[in-house]
Amino acid sequence: MQLCNPQVVRSLLEKYSLAPKKAFGQNFLINPMVPERIADASASFADADKPAGVIEIGPGVGALTQYLCQTYDKVVAIEIDRGLIPLLGEALEEYDNVTVVEADFMKIDLPAFVNEHFGDILAAGGTVGVCANLPYYITTPVIMKLLESYPMTEKLPFSSIVVMIQLEVARRLAAKEGTDDYGSITAAIALRAKAEKLFDVSAGNFHPVPKVASAVVGIIPHGGIREVYPDAPADNDECLKFADNVGELISLAFGQRRKTLVNSISSKYPKDKTTEVLKSCGLRVDIRGEKLSAQDFCKIADKLN
Ligand code: SAM
Repeated sequence: MQLCNPQVVRSLLEKYSLAPKKAFGQNFLINPMVPERIADASASFADADKPAGVIEIGPGVGALTQYLCQTYDKVVAIEIDRGLIPLLGEALEEYDNVTVVEADFMKIDLPAFVNEHFGDILAAGGTVGVCANLPYYITTPVIMKLLESYPMTEKLPFSSIVVMIQLEVARRLAAKEGTDDYGSITAAIALRAKAEKLFDVSAGNFHPVPKVASAVVGIIPHGGIREVYPDAPADNDECLKFADNVGELISLAFGQRRKTLVNSISSKYPKDKTTEVLKSCGLRVDIRGEKLSAQDFCKIADKLN
């Protein structure tokens, strides 16, 4: 079944007495070239010689799921909308490598879920990716949940996170320091992964047509905070505390974006101390958070604490 054909999408929804639900961010893909390209981009980060699984968040009527089934050994799709579960059973009946789980992604215990569904693949040295056309209303919380469900001292178990999101957020994730798009989320993600904007997708590829343009990003986890800052504490507990300090420093720095770093973090760190630390790092004393890389934040947090 061609699950991206607008007529097929409409008739499947009609058959199950459904209409796209705004509250769940339902904008279904209706151009097959888009999900095929997303699935290919996702698979390009997996090791072709090893077993590979993928988690999909929000399969909808299965537009992307069908291509993931053709690309991966195992697909587990998490869908919040109970009404879509029987529809997906029919739409994906030709695939025996897919499991649809009815759940709210934000409420699942992610490490337990990954172990339950992909323990065999990981034990065999295979990879697990995450791939989705994310509902716009929870784009950032979903990405942060994926990144924050595991300790910062470890490499995440995901080979890649390839997701379609609002163009504006995609730009922020992949921004370089010093640009307008650079923000706390850019720096926070850089502590765990490298984010790259892969390609843009215009609003006309969806039903219903969303108000915003979209883009696909690839988030490729690296080895954790010690890869960004090799001087981070060797002891794991100490390193986790250090990571918390870095995270807090980033939030403070961007909480008052227009202020210099010295002023924006003054509620926690005395101004003279921050000034001294900036000088010792070879940075301008009037620098703002938006000019600092994840590595700079690590260095500053290390010297401040
Ligand atoms: N993958 C389909 C496609 O590309 O056409 C649908 C994408 S649509 C933008 C987002 C999907 O995520 C919808 O099916 C929606 O019901 C589902 N969804 C929304 N919130 C969710 C949540 N918290 N957990 C799991 N699925 C969710």
